[in-house]
Amino acid sequence: MVGSALALALRDSGLNILLLDGSPMTVKPFDAQAPFEPRVSALSAASQRILERLGAWEGIARRRSSPYSDMHVWDGSGTGQIHFSAASVHAEGLGHIVENRVVQDALLDCLHDSDLGLLASARLEQMRRSGDDWLLTLADGRTLRAPLVIAADGANSAVRRLTGVATREWDYLHHAIVTSVRSANPHQMTAWQRFTDNGPLAFLPLERDGQQDWCSIVWSTTPSEAERLMALDDDSFCRELERAFEGRLGPVLSADPRLCVPLRQRHAKRYVAEGLALIGDAAHTIHPLAGQGVNLGFLDAAVLAEVLLQATERGERLADVKVLSRFERRRMPHNLALMAAMEGFERLFQANPLPVRWLRNAGLKWVDQMPEAKALFVREALGLTGDLPALAKA
Ligand SMILES: Cc1cc2nc3c(=O)[nH]c(=O)nc-3n(C[C@H](O)[C@H](O)[C@H](O)COP(=O)(O)OP(=O)(O)OC[C@H]3O[C@@H](n4cnc5c(N)ncnc54)[C@H](O)[C@@H]3O)c2cc1C
Repeated sequence: MVGSALALALRDSGLNILLLDGSPMTVKPFDAQAPFEPRVSALSAASQRILERLGAWEGIARRRSSPYSDMHVWDGSGTGQIHFSAASVHAEGLGHIVENRVVQDALLDCLHDSDLGLLASARLEQMRRSGDDWLLTLADGRTLRAPLVIAADGANSAVRRLTGVATREWDYLHHAIVTSVRSANPHQMTAWQRFTDNGPLAFLPLERDGQQDWCSIVWSTTPSEAERLMALDDDSFCRELERAFEGRLGPVLSADPRLCVPLRQRHAKRYVAEGLALIGDAAHTIHPLAGQGVNLGFLDAAVLAEVLLQATERGERLADVKVLSRFERRRMPHNLALMAAMEGFERLFQANPLPVRWLRNAGLKWVDQMPEAKALFVREALGLTGDLPALAKA
Protein backbone atom coordinates (compact mmCIF):
# COMPACT_ATOMS: atom_id res chain seq x y z
CA MET A 1 0.00 0.00 0.00
CA VAL A 2 2.65 2.51 1.08
CA GLY A 3 5.13 1.77 -1.73
CA SER A 4 2.38 2.07 -4.35
CA ALA A 5 1.29 5.41 -2.88
CA LEU A 6 4.86 6.77 -3.07
CA ALA A 7 5.32 5.63 -6.69
CA LEU A 8 2.02 7.28 -7.68
CA ALA A 9 2.95 10.51 -5.88
CA LEU A 10 6.11 10.64 -8.04
CA ARG A 11 4.54 9.61 -11.33
CA ASP A 12 4.86 13.08 -12.92
CA SER A 13 8.36 13.75 -11.58
CA GLY A 14 10.23 12.64 -14.71
CA LEU A 15 12.30 10.31 -12.49
CA ASN A 16 13.07 6.81 -13.70
CA ILE A 17 11.05 4.75 -11.19
CA LEU A 18 10.70 0.98 -10.88
CA LEU A 19 8.26 -0.46 -8.33
CA LEU A 20 9.08 -4.06 -7.57
CA ASP A 21 7.06 -6.42 -5.42
CA GLY A 22 7.18 -10.10 -4.51
CA SER A 23 3.44 -10.41 -5.24
CA PRO A 24 1.98 -10.87 -8.77
CA MET A 25 0.52 -7.30 -8.62
CA THR A 26 -2.70 -8.44 -10.28
CA VAL A 27 -6.08 -6.86 -9.51
CA LYS A 28 -8.69 -9.30 -8.24
CA PRO A 29 -12.18 -8.87 -9.84
CA PHE A 30 -14.32 -7.36 -7.10
CA ASP A 31 -17.39 -9.24 -5.91
CA ALA A 32 -19.65 -7.10 -3.71
CA GLN A 33 -21.21 -10.25 -2.21
CA ALA A 34 -17.86 -11.85 -1.31
CA PRO A 35 -17.01 -12.26 2.40
CA PHE A 36 -14.89 -9.48 3.91
CA GLU A 37 -11.11 -9.91 3.81
CA PRO A 38 -9.82 -10.41 7.40
CA ARG A 39 -7.18 -7.66 7.14
CA VAL A 40 -8.70 -4.20 7.24
CA SER A 41 -7.43 -0.70 8.06
CA ALA A 42 -9.14 2.27 9.65
CA LEU A 43 -8.17 4.99 7.16
CA SER A 44 -8.03 8.53 8.55
CA ALA A 45 -9.28 11.67 6.81
CA ALA A 46 -5.63 12.51 5.98
CA SER A 47 -5.16 9.11 4.26
CA GLN A 48 -8.42 9.63 2.37
CA ARG A 49 -7.16 12.98 1.06
CA ILE A 50 -3.85 11.46 -0.03
CA LEU A 51 -5.60 8.58 -1.79
CA GLU A 52 -8.07 11.00 -3.44
CA ARG A 53 -5.21 13.08 -4.84
CA LEU A 54 -3.42 9.96 -6.09
CA GLY A 55 -6.65 8.96 -7.88
CA ALA A 56 -7.14 5.77 -5.84
CA TRP A 57 -10.04 6.77 -3.57
CA GLU A 58 -12.56 6.45 -6.37
CA GLY A 59 -11.56 2.78 -6.81
CA ILE A 60 -11.99 2.22 -3.06
CA ALA A 61 -15.43 3.87 -2.92
CA ARG A 62 -16.55 1.91 -6.00
CA ARG A 63 -15.58 -1.36 -4.33
CA ARG A 64 -16.37 -1.33 -0.61
CA SER A 65 -15.62 1.04 2.28
CA SER A 66 -17.39 1.60 5.57
CA PRO A 67 -17.53 5.11 7.03
CA TYR A 68 -17.69 5.54 10.78
CA SER A 69 -18.59 8.64 12.75
CA ASP A 70 -18.22 7.63 16.41
CA MET A 71 -15.90 5.71 18.67
CA HIS A 72 -16.67 4.16 22.07
CA VAL A 73 -13.83 3.05 24.32
CA TRP A 74 -14.33 1.51 27.74
CA ASP A 75 -12.49 -0.29 30.51
CA GLY A 76 -13.67 -3.86 30.94
CA SER A 77 -12.59 -3.92 34.60
CA GLY A 78 -14.33 -0.76 35.73
CA THR A 79 -16.88 1.86 34.81
CA GLY A 80 -14.67 4.30 32.87
CA GLN A 81 -15.66 5.03 29.30
CA ILE A 82 -15.16 7.65 26.66
CA HIS A 83 -17.08 8.59 23.53
CA PHE A 84 -15.58 10.43 20.54
CA SER A 85 -17.70 11.78 17.72
CA ALA A 86 -17.00 13.45 14.38
CA ALA A 87 -19.85 15.86 15.11
CA SER A 88 -17.84 17.29 18.05
CA VAL A 89 -15.36 18.82 15.57
CA HIS A 90 -17.97 19.42 12.82
CA ALA A 91 -16.34 16.72 10.66
CA GLU A 92 -18.32 14.46 8.35
CA GLY A 93 -16.82 11.29 9.80
CA LEU A 94 -13.90 9.86 11.77
CA GLY A 95 -12.67 7.73 8.85
CA HIS A 96 -13.40 4.58 6.86
CA ILE A 97 -12.78 0.92 7.54
CA VAL A 98 -11.44 -0.57 4.31
CA GLU A 99 -10.18 -4.06 3.51
CA ASN A 100 -6.43 -3.93 2.76
CA ARG A 101 -7.04 -5.88 -0.45
CA VAL A 102 -9.45 -3.14 -1.64
CA VAL A 103 -6.85 -0.42 -0.96
CA GLN A 104 -4.16 -2.44 -2.78
CA ASP A 105 -6.39 -3.12 -5.80
CA ALA A 106 -7.46 0.54 -6.11
CA LEU A 107 -3.78 1.59 -6.02
CA LEU A 108 -2.84 -1.14 -8.52
CA ASP A 109 -5.53 0.13 -10.94
CA CYS A 110 -3.81 3.54 -10.89
CA LEU A 111 -0.34 1.99 -11.22
CA HIS A 112 -1.38 -0.08 -14.25
CA ASP A 113 -2.87 3.09 -15.83
CA SER A 114 0.40 5.01 -15.29
CA ASP A 115 3.75 4.96 -17.13
CA LEU A 116 5.56 3.81 -13.99
CA GLY A 117 7.80 0.76 -14.30
CA LEU A 118 6.34 -2.27 -12.48
CA LEU A 119 8.14 -5.53 -11.77
CA ALA A 120 5.77 -8.17 -10.35
CA SER A 121 6.67 -11.46 -8.61
CA ALA A 122 10.12 -9.99 -8.01
CA ARG A 123 11.42 -11.07 -4.61
CA LEU A 124 14.46 -9.21 -3.36
CA GLU A 125 17.06 -11.56 -1.87
CA GLN A 126 20.40 -9.74 -1.81
CA MET A 127 21.46 -6.13 -1.78
CA ARG A 128 24.91 -4.52 -1.58
CA ARG A 129 26.74 -1.31 -2.41
CA SER A 130 28.44 -1.19 -5.81
CA GLY A 131 30.20 2.14 -6.31
CA ASP A 132 27.59 4.88 -5.73
CA ASP A 133 24.71 2.49 -6.51
CA TRP A 134 22.92 -0.43 -4.90
CA LEU A 135 23.11 -3.80 -6.60
CA LEU A 136 19.90 -5.77 -6.00
CA THR A 137 19.60 -9.52 -6.64
CA LEU A 138 16.17 -11.09 -7.02
CA ALA A 139 15.16 -14.64 -6.08
CA ASP A 140 15.16 -15.65 -9.78
CA GLY A 141 18.76 -14.46 -10.15
CA ARG A 142 18.04 -11.20 -12.01
CA THR A 143 20.09 -8.19 -10.89
CA LEU A 144 19.16 -4.50 -10.82
CA ARG A 145 21.24 -1.38 -10.20
CA ALA A 146 19.80 1.77 -8.59
CA PRO A 147 21.24 4.91 -6.98
CA LEU A 148 18.26 5.24 -4.60
CA VAL A 149 16.26 2.41 -3.00
CA ILE A 150 13.07 3.14 -1.03
CA ALA A 151 12.10 0.25 1.22
CA ALA A 152 8.33 -0.14 1.62
CA ASP A 153 8.55 -3.88 2.12
CA GLY A 154 6.62 -4.13 5.37
CA ALA A 155 7.24 -5.13 8.98
CA ASN A 156 9.78 -7.86 8.15
CA SER A 157 11.59 -5.65 5.64
CA ALA A 158 14.26 -7.54 3.71
CA VAL A 159 15.89 -4.22 2.74
CA ARG A 160 16.16 -3.18 6.40
CA ARG A 161 17.78 -6.52 7.28
CA LEU A 162 20.13 -6.63 4.25
CA THR A 163 21.35 -3.06 4.81
CA GLY A 164 21.81 -3.60 8.57
CA VAL A 165 19.51 -0.79 9.75
CA ALA A 166 19.15 -1.19 13.54
CA THR A 167 15.71 -1.27 15.15
CA ARG A 168 14.23 -0.89 18.61
CA GLU A 169 11.67 -3.60 19.27
CA TRP A 170 9.00 -4.21 21.90
CA ASP A 171 7.44 -7.66 22.04
CA TYR A 172 3.96 -7.29 23.54
CA LEU A 173 3.75 -11.03 24.14
CA HIS A 174 0.37 -10.57 22.54
CA HIS A 175 -1.30 -12.13 19.54
CA ALA A 176 -4.18 -10.53 17.64
CA ILE A 177 -7.05 -12.64 16.34
CA VAL A 178 -8.63 -11.00 13.30
CA THR A 179 -11.83 -11.96 11.51
CA SER A 180 -15.24 -10.58 10.50
CA VAL A 181 -18.35 -11.32 12.55
CA ARG A 182 -22.06 -10.70 12.21
CA SER A 183 -23.96 -9.36 15.22
CA ALA A 184 -27.68 -9.23 15.98
CA ASN A 185 -27.75 -5.44 16.43
CA PRO A 186 -26.42 -2.78 14.01
CA HIS A 187 -23.00 -1.27 14.73
CA GLN A 188 -24.33 2.30 14.35
CA MET A 189 -21.27 3.37 12.30
CA THR A 190 -19.30 3.23 15.54
CA ALA A 191 -15.85 1.76 16.25
CA TRP A 192 -16.01 -0.03 19.61
CA GLN A 193 -13.00 -0.86 21.78
CA ARG A 194 -13.08 -2.65 25.12
CA PHE A 195 -9.93 -2.99 27.21
CA THR A 196 -10.01 -6.48 28.71
CA ASP A 197 -7.58 -7.85 31.31
CA ASN A 198 -5.71 -9.63 28.49
CA GLY A 199 -5.65 -6.77 25.94
CA PRO A 200 -7.89 -4.58 23.77
CA LEU A 201 -10.81 -6.00 21.78
CA ALA A 202 -12.02 -3.87 18.85
CA PHE A 203 -15.20 -4.15 16.79
CA LEU A 204 -14.79 -2.06 13.61
CA PRO A 205 -17.95 -1.36 11.60
CA LEU A 206 -18.28 -2.90 8.13
CA GLU A 207 -21.03 -2.13 5.65
CA ARG A 208 -22.35 -4.30 2.82
CA ASP A 209 -25.43 -3.35 0.76
CA GLY A 210 -26.30 -0.73 3.37
CA GLN A 211 -26.47 -3.42 6.10
CA GLN A 212 -24.75 -2.60 9.38
CA ASP A 213 -24.53 -6.03 10.97
CA TRP A 214 -20.91 -6.96 10.17
CA CYS A 215 -17.81 -5.90 12.11
CA SER A 216 -14.13 -6.60 11.68
CA ILE A 217 -12.67 -7.67 15.01
CA VAL A 218 -9.13 -7.30 16.33
CA TRP A 219 -8.84 -9.26 19.59
CA SER A 220 -5.44 -8.85 21.28
CA THR A 221 -4.66 -11.39 23.95
CA THR A 222 -1.94 -13.59 25.42
CA PRO A 223 -0.45 -16.25 23.11
CA SER A 224 -1.89 -19.13 25.17
CA GLU A 225 -5.37 -17.59 25.22
CA ALA A 226 -5.11 -16.88 21.46
CA GLU A 227 -4.21 -20.53 20.87
CA ARG A 228 -7.25 -21.63 22.87
CA LEU A 229 -9.59 -19.21 21.04
CA MET A 230 -8.24 -20.26 17.63
CA ALA A 231 -8.98 -23.92 18.44
CA LEU A 232 -12.66 -23.29 19.32
CA ASP A 233 -15.43 -24.23 16.89
CA ASP A 234 -17.33 -21.28 15.38
CA ASP A 235 -20.28 -21.38 17.80
CA SER A 236 -18.09 -21.50 20.91
CA PHE A 237 -15.88 -18.73 19.51
CA CYS A 238 -18.92 -16.50 18.89
CA ARG A 239 -20.17 -17.08 22.45
CA GLU A 240 -16.75 -16.26 23.98
CA LEU A 241 -16.47 -13.16 21.81
CA GLU A 242 -19.92 -11.97 22.81
CA ARG A 243 -19.03 -12.41 26.48
CA ALA A 244 -15.68 -10.60 26.10
CA PHE A 245 -17.51 -7.75 24.33
CA GLU A 246 -20.20 -7.60 27.04
CA GLY A 247 -22.81 -8.27 24.35
CA ARG A 248 -22.78 -4.59 23.34
CA LEU A 249 -24.14 -5.45 19.87
CA GLY A 250 -26.32 -8.35 21.00
CA PRO A 251 -25.52 -11.99 20.22
CA VAL A 252 -22.63 -12.66 17.80
CA LEU A 253 -24.39 -14.72 15.11
CA SER A 254 -21.50 -15.94 12.94
CA ALA A 255 -17.76 -15.56 12.36
CA ASP A 256 -15.60 -15.93 9.24
CA PRO A 257 -12.33 -17.93 9.35
CA ARG A 258 -9.90 -16.51 11.91
CA LEU A 259 -6.30 -15.31 11.46
CA CYS A 260 -3.82 -15.04 14.32
CA VAL A 261 -1.01 -12.44 14.10
CA PRO A 262 1.81 -12.02 16.68
CA LEU A 263 2.14 -8.35 17.71
CA ARG A 264 5.43 -6.49 17.89
CA GLN A 265 6.09 -2.78 17.94
CA ARG A 266 9.28 -1.96 16.03
CA HIS A 267 11.02 1.27 15.13
CA ALA A 268 14.07 1.73 12.88
CA LYS A 269 16.71 3.87 14.62
CA ARG A 270 17.31 5.69 11.31
CA TYR A 271 14.94 5.96 8.34
CA VAL A 272 17.66 7.04 5.90
CA ALA A 273 21.23 6.32 4.80
CA GLU A 274 23.16 7.22 1.65
CA GLY A 275 20.90 6.10 -1.25
CA LEU A 276 18.34 4.53 1.09
CA ALA A 277 15.03 5.46 2.78
CA LEU A 278 12.59 3.33 4.79
CA ILE A 279 8.86 4.11 4.78
CA GLY A 280 5.68 2.55 6.21
CA ASP A 281 5.94 -0.63 8.26
CA ALA A 282 9.53 -1.12 7.08
CA ALA A 283 10.37 1.92 9.25
CA HIS A 284 7.82 1.47 12.06
CA THR A 285 5.32 -1.18 13.12
CA ILE A 286 2.85 0.11 15.67
CA HIS A 287 0.37 -1.69 17.95
CA PRO A 288 -2.96 -2.06 16.07
CA LEU A 289 -4.89 -0.65 19.03
CA ALA A 290 -4.15 2.79 17.56
CA GLY A 291 -5.48 1.82 14.12
CA GLN A 292 -2.75 4.09 12.74
CA GLY A 293 -0.16 1.85 11.02
CA VAL A 294 -0.91 2.48 7.39
CA ASN A 295 -2.03 6.05 8.08
CA LEU A 296 1.50 6.83 9.28
CA GLY A 297 2.81 5.03 6.19
CA PHE A 298 0.75 7.15 3.77
CA LEU A 299 2.03 10.30 5.49
CA ASP A 300 5.61 8.98 5.14
CA ALA A 301 5.00 8.43 1.40
CA ALA A 302 3.49 11.90 0.93
CA VAL A 303 6.31 13.66 2.81
CA LEU A 304 9.09 11.70 1.07
CA ALA A 305 7.54 12.45 -2.34
CA GLU A 306 7.42 16.16 -1.41
CA VAL A 307 11.09 16.15 -0.33
CA LEU A 308 12.20 14.32 -3.51
CA LEU A 309 10.18 16.61 -5.80
CA GLN A 310 11.63 19.75 -4.16
CA ALA A 311 15.16 18.33 -4.43
CA THR A 312 14.57 17.50 -8.12
CA GLU A 313 13.48 21.10 -8.78
CA ARG A 314 16.62 22.37 -7.04
CA GLY A 315 18.83 19.99 -9.05
CA GLU A 316 20.06 18.19 -5.91
CA ARG A 317 21.27 14.58 -5.86
CA LEU A 318 18.31 12.56 -4.53
CA ALA A 319 20.44 9.76 -3.08
CA ASP A 320 22.32 12.30 -0.89
CA VAL A 321 21.71 11.43 2.76
CA LYS A 322 21.41 15.20 3.48
CA VAL A 323 18.41 15.38 1.13
CA LEU A 324 16.82 12.20 2.54
CA SER A 325 17.33 13.41 6.12
CA ARG A 326 14.75 16.16 5.47
CA PHE A 327 12.17 13.37 5.23
CA GLU A 328 13.41 11.73 8.44
CA ARG A 329 13.34 15.03 10.34
CA ARG A 330 9.71 15.61 9.38
CA ARG A 331 8.38 12.10 10.03
CA MET A 332 10.39 10.52 12.84
CA PRO A 333 9.24 12.78 15.74
CA HIS A 334 5.59 12.35 14.74
CA ASN A 335 5.82 8.55 14.41
CA LEU A 336 7.78 8.22 17.67
CA ALA A 337 5.30 10.36 19.62
CA LEU A 338 2.39 8.20 18.48
CA MET A 339 4.26 4.97 19.22
CA ALA A 340 5.16 6.21 22.71
CA ALA A 341 1.52 7.14 23.35
CA MET A 342 0.39 3.64 22.29
CA GLU A 343 3.05 2.08 24.50
CA GLY A 344 1.70 4.17 27.42
CA PHE A 345 -1.91 3.14 26.72
CA GLU A 346 -0.96 -0.50 26.43
CA ARG A 347 0.84 -0.43 29.80
CA LEU A 348 -1.86 1.59 31.52
CA PHE A 349 -4.56 -0.86 30.50
CA GLN A 350 -2.44 -3.92 31.29
CA ALA A 351 -1.77 -2.70 34.84
CA ASN A 352 -3.98 -4.45 37.36
CA PRO A 353 -3.25 -2.93 40.80
CA LEU A 354 -6.45 -1.44 42.23
CA PRO A 355 -5.18 2.19 42.51
CA VAL A 356 -4.11 2.16 38.82
CA ARG A 357 -7.46 0.74 37.75
CA TRP A 358 -9.30 3.32 39.84
CA LEU A 359 -7.21 6.19 38.39
CA ARG A 360 -7.61 4.97 34.83
CA ASN A 361 -11.40 4.70 35.17
CA ALA A 362 -11.64 8.09 36.87
CA GLY A 363 -9.38 9.54 34.13
CA LEU A 364 -11.55 8.16 31.32
CA LYS A 365 -14.72 9.57 32.92
CA TRP A 366 -13.01 12.91 33.55
CA VAL A 367 -11.75 13.29 29.97
CA ASP A 368 -15.17 12.17 28.66
CA GLN A 369 -16.62 15.32 30.25
CA MET A 370 -14.05 17.64 28.65
CA PRO A 371 -15.18 18.49 25.10
CA GLU A 372 -12.02 20.50 24.27
CA ALA A 373 -9.69 17.67 25.28
CA LYS A 374 -11.75 15.17 23.31
CA ALA A 375 -11.77 17.42 20.24
CA LEU A 376 -7.94 17.38 20.37
CA PHE A 377 -7.95 13.56 20.33
CA VAL A 378 -10.44 13.53 17.45
CA ARG A 379 -8.34 15.93 15.35
CA GLU A 380 -5.26 13.78 16.01
CA ALA A 381 -7.19 10.63 14.94
CA LEU A 382 -8.34 12.39 11.75
CA GLY A 383 -4.64 12.92 11.01
CA LEU A 384 -5.18 16.60 10.34
CA THR A 385 -2.74 18.05 12.87
CA GLY A 386 0.98 18.81 12.75
CA ASP A 387 3.30 19.22 9.79
CA LEU A 388 1.11 17.94 6.94
CA PRO A 389 2.40 17.34 3.40
CA ALA A 390 0.55 19.14 0.58
CA LEU A 391 -1.11 15.86 -0.46
CA ALA A 392 -2.90 15.67 2.92
CA LYS A 393 -3.83 19.36 3.30
CA ALA A 394 -7.41 20.60 2.80
C1 LIG B 1 -4.16 -6.99 13.38
C2 LIG B 1 -3.75 -5.71 12.68
C3 LIG B 1 -4.68 -4.68 12.54
C4 LIG B 1 -4.32 -3.47 11.91
N1 LIG B 1 -5.23 -2.44 11.82
C5 LIG B 1 -4.87 -1.27 11.26
C6 LIG B 1 -5.79 -0.15 11.18
O1 LIG B 1 -6.95 -0.22 11.60
N2 LIG B 1 -5.36 1.02 10.61
C7 LIG B 1 -4.09 1.15 10.13
O2 LIG B 1 -3.74 2.25 9.64
N3 LIG B 1 -3.20 0.12 10.20
C8 LIG B 1 -3.55 -1.06 10.74
N4 LIG B 1 -2.66 -2.09 10.80
C9 LIG B 1 -1.32 -1.89 10.25
C10 LIG B 1 -1.28 -2.00 8.73
O3 LIG B 1 -1.81 -3.26 8.34
C11 LIG B 1 0.15 -1.84 8.26
O4 LIG B 1 0.64 -0.61 8.77
C12 LIG B 1 0.24 -1.82 6.74
O5 LIG B 1 -0.13 -3.05 6.17
C13 LIG B 1 1.67 -1.48 6.29
O6 LIG B 1 1.68 -1.24 4.91
P1 LIG B 1 3.04 -1.27 4.09
O7 LIG B 1 2.68 -0.96 2.69
O8 LIG B 1 4.08 -0.45 4.79
O9 LIG B 1 3.55 -2.78 4.23
P2 LIG B 1 2.85 -4.13 3.74
O10 LIG B 1 1.38 -3.96 3.61
O11 LIG B 1 3.36 -5.20 4.64
O12 LIG B 1 3.45 -4.34 2.27
C14 LIG B 1 4.76 -4.77 2.05
C15 LIG B 1 4.93 -5.10 0.57
O13 LIG B 1 6.30 -5.47 0.37
C16 LIG B 1 6.35 -6.67 -0.41
N5 LIG B 1 7.58 -7.37 -0.03
C17 LIG B 1 7.93 -7.80 1.20
N6 LIG B 1 9.14 -8.39 1.17
C18 LIG B 1 9.57 -8.34 -0.11
C19 LIG B 1 10.74 -8.78 -0.79
N7 LIG B 1 11.74 -9.41 -0.15
N8 LIG B 1 10.85 -8.55 -2.13
C20 LIG B 1 9.85 -7.93 -2.81
N9 LIG B 1 8.72 -7.48 -2.21
C21 LIG B 1 8.58 -7.68 -0.89
C22 LIG B 1 5.08 -7.43 -0.09
O14 LIG B 1 4.72 -8.28 -1.16
C23 LIG B 1 4.06 -6.28 0.11
O15 LIG B 1 3.43 -5.94 -1.09
C24 LIG B 1 -3.00 -3.31 11.42
C25 LIG B 1 -2.07 -4.35 11.54
C26 LIG B 1 -2.45 -5.55 12.16
C27 LIG B 1 -1.41 -6.66 12.32
